[in-house]
Amino acid sequence: MGQPGSERNPELGVVIVGAGLGGLYALHRMRGIGMTARVYEAGSGIGGTWFWNRYPGARCDIESLEYSYAFDDDLQQEWKWPERYGAQPAILRYIEHVADRFDLRRDVRLNARIAEAVYDGAANLWTLRTTEGETVTARYCIMATGNLSTPRVPDFPGLERFRGRWYHSGLWPAEGVDFTGLRVGVVGTGSTGIQMIPLIAQQAQHLHVFQRTANFSLPARNRPMDPEFERAFKADYRRRREEAKDTPVGVSGFLAPTESALTVPEAERRRRYEELWQQGGTIGFLTSFNDFLVDEAANETAAEFVREKIRAIVRDPAVAELLAPKDHPIGSKRLCLDTGYYETYNRDNVTLVDVRRAPIVEITEAGIRTTEAEYPLDAIAFATGFDAMTGALREIDVRVAGGPALADVWKDGPRTYLGLSVPGFPNFFVITGPGSPGVKSQMIHAIEQHTDWIADCLVHLRAQQLSRIEAREQASEAWVAHVNAVADGTLYPRADSWYMGANIPGKPRVFMPYVGGVGRYRRTCDEVAAEGYRGFVLSR
Ligand code: NAP
Repeated sequence: MGQPGSERNPELGVVIVGAGLGGLYALHRMRGIGMTARVYEAGSGIGGTWFWNRYPGARCDIESLEYSYAFDDDLQQEWKWPERYGAQPAILRYIEHVADRFDLRRDVRLNARIAEAVYDGAANLWTLRTTEGETVTARYCIMATGNLSTPRVPDFPGLERFRGRWYHSGLWPAEGVDFTGLRVGVVGTGSTGIQMIPLIAQQAQHLHVFQRTANFSLPARNRPMDPEFERAFKADYRRRREEAKDTPVGVSGFLAPTESALTVPEAERRRRYEELWQQGGTIGFLTSFNDFLVDEAANETAAEFVREKIRAIVRDPAVAELLAPKDHPIGSKRLCLDTGYYETYNRDNVTLVDVRRAPIVEITEAGIRTTEAEYPLDAIAFATGFDAMTGALREIDVRVAGGPALADVWKDGPRTYLGLSVPGFPNFFVITGPGSPGVKSQMIHAIEQHTDWIADCLVHLRAQQLSRIEAREQASEAWVAHVNAVADGTLYPRADSWYMGANIPGKPRVFMPYVGGVGRYRRTCDEVAAEGYRGFVLSR
């Protein structure tokens, strides 16, 4: 990099925070463009989400041949996924393989949680400090801290008194938990609860599920990888990866729909929903019709289809009604994917507790007490989610020396340019950040696109003998307005979702992801770069 004037030499070209799929790829790419780079990771191992979320049933909801890195053809040809959808252990094995294959571990510091990141304008340097006091300086800082990496247990009074054991899905013990013969409570019925509940039910003496809001869930139809399917997929890998780039969510085979749910005859619409239900997976539904997430009546056709399925599966009509969501459009919260979820409520050892009607008031020594009853428990599994999208960034004291903390700058909601950078914070990048399609797309696809864009940007700076880039306030304002306008044209803001920050008491209600589609987003990012990084100030 150019080193004019009074700048000191940093220890590193780039410091990266987080050794999940994002941070590891960033390390690989930064090395590829000749930058010195190091990753700081809070965990004792690499893998991010797939390191921490070891709860029973943890599995990706995107097919494994898609949910994998695309950057190396030999890797994608050689790696063998055992199942249609990757389970947590399989995905973690894959990440470890990638780290070894590309010799990444030597530049990853484990057990190193970053507490502070401060930019010194005079020196044009970022200095990061771990909770243990180790510091590192770098020209550029890349946050690969993840979107669902700050686990949250609700503030129930009395948890410290509970005599049994309790767990959060996102901090699950590596050695696993044996629930055999125990009275277990699961709190939360989002994607995570829906995955763990069927498996815990098989072990527990009795399982109480504490549900506040019912969620829509579709069958995964997971199965061992079919060798013929794998062969054909791999023969077509390059084309598929290209195709994914111009789709709504970055998954090949699921192009932008062109037809309205309201113009096809009802019988045909039902036939399609039934076909998608039998195929398994969520993306087929999400991309079934062009008004699925735009028009209430169109959405309702799919919502009612799924409610009917729930009523057909769950034998007790009162339980089925409680499980059938009626308070948000289908897909406006993350659509869940399950294996035997609704069927689990037909078991004699499973009870659904409606904590919307009778909320949890406290955890007692013996269990969970709602406004109606006390439920004696030996163990509680919290599947209560995360301080999503901004939680991990807000936990780090990120600031320009003498200036306000990023957490304060974002107190009314995150403000980014392209989801990649933040005005007022030079040489600072976020991978899959708020304002990008990250969480509304195949995450690894988003990770690669963001990281490649950042790498190209740093190469450009070097070629121009520049060493400082910062988003313009106006460009960020326009981007945030665009992100909101796109969201406002959809049904997304109608749900109390973590996309909206609605799951965290006191968090501003702002729709955070960009839902304009990965194709449109990519084109915008490419145009910005082609126009000499429009909306950024580049300098020495
Ligand atoms: P989540 O979607 O935020 O769900 C949290 C659950 O806890 C909700 O049911 C919520 O109820 C409940 N809850 C929170 N506070 C509560 C309280 N005080 N009392 C009662 N219930 C309470 O979290 P998650 O299930 O961990 O999933 C987060 C995201 O991770 C997913 O949306 C998905 O993007 C990702 N994920 C993906 C997969 C996959 O790929 N298959 C699996 C797991 C997670 P309310 O809805 O009423 O707030």
